[in-house]
Amino acid sequence: MGGFDLQADWGIMLFFIKEQIMSSKVVRAIFPGSFDPITNGHFDVIQRGVKLFDEVIVAVGRSPVKNQLFTPQERVEMIKELVKDMPGVIVESFDGLMVGYAASKKADVILRGLRSLTDVQYEFGLAMTNRAVAGIETVFVMTNEKYSFTSSTLIREVASLGGDVSNLVPENVYRRLQERLRFKSLSR
Ligand code: ADP
Repeated sequence: MGGFDLQADWGIMLFFIKEQIMSSKVVRAIFPGSFDPITNGHFDVIQRGVKLFDEVIVAVGRSPVKNQLFTPQERVEMIKELVKDMPGVIVESFDGLMVGYAASKKADVILRGLRSLTDVQYEFGLAMTNRAVAGIETVFVMTNEKYSFTSSTLIREVASLGGDVSNLVPENVYRRLQERLRFKSLSR
């Protein structure tokens, strides 16, 4: 009665350890994009992502962007400044196929942001392709409606024509944008 069954107790202990390991699996998301430059909309997606996943890798594509304003290295630097107090966020750049990079990082899902129904159409095709070629799922988060019209392309265009984009990008990005555009107009 109430005896000590070494084998049964070990069995129970191993079961609990296994459960612990299984439940403590890190869920890693990759948030890929051009981020030229990162906007408040992108940052909003990162903030939502860290609530859902243990790790979010912000992956800056190194492939050439039309009318590129910042180099991939500069884009990475700006994002790193922004997320320096967010322990679950890693910022890197990558070359080539995004799903190949995601696999090399052992990412469980791709994180993407949605602004509008127009985004859905494009993102749907991308997500289906990524699933077909690499078997990876995409998770979408909807941005705060304040940023539903914000895009890096528009920011580059409006800022280069002298428009005020200070409400649409983080402060460090706004400073760099002003410096870059001042330099560009001086060197013209
Ligand atoms: P890409 O060139 O791969 O579309 P972007 O840097 O433009 O890269 O965007 C990366 C991701 O961020 C995409 O999922 C895009 O829909 C999303 N995104 C871009 N701008 C916003 C925004 N204002 N709000 C929410 N998501 C956004």
